[in-house]
Amino acid sequence: MSDCIFCKIINGEFNTEFVYEDEYSVVFNDINPKADTHLLVVPKQHTASLNECNDEQLLGKLMMTVKTATKKLGINSYRTVINTGKEAGQEVFHLHIHILSGEIKL
Ligand code: AMP
Ligand code: ZN
Repeated sequence: MSDCIFCKIINGEFNTEFVYEDEYSVVFNDINPKADTHLLVVPKQHTASLNECNDEQLLGKLMMTVKTATKKLGINSYRTVINTGKEAGQEVFHLHIHILSGEIKL
């Protein structure tokens, strides 16, 4: 989607460093970290939120990416968060999984 900030990041428009990338997703640091380590797992395919996503395979892949990326980065203990809907605090309407580790300020 052309006006979606995460699609722009995926397309390399902001030169964002990907700490992990696979066929389905990219992982990068949150610009406004709420923890010592705050990563976002973002599917390459645009979907507004979990409510709009019916792709079971993609959802499984994203959870596996959480495991693979954290393992690769040496993160053993972490919290995952998916904000779904404005009232729940979703600000970017491109599905993503937060990974929070270390001291968490949520
Ligand atoms: P959510 O509230 O679940 O939609 O989370 C969106 C997250 O995206 C927030 O934690 C923001 O800090 C983060 N964010 C917004 N813009 C950027 C960006 N350009 N690069 C990295 N993270 C971003
Ligand atoms: Zn998008």
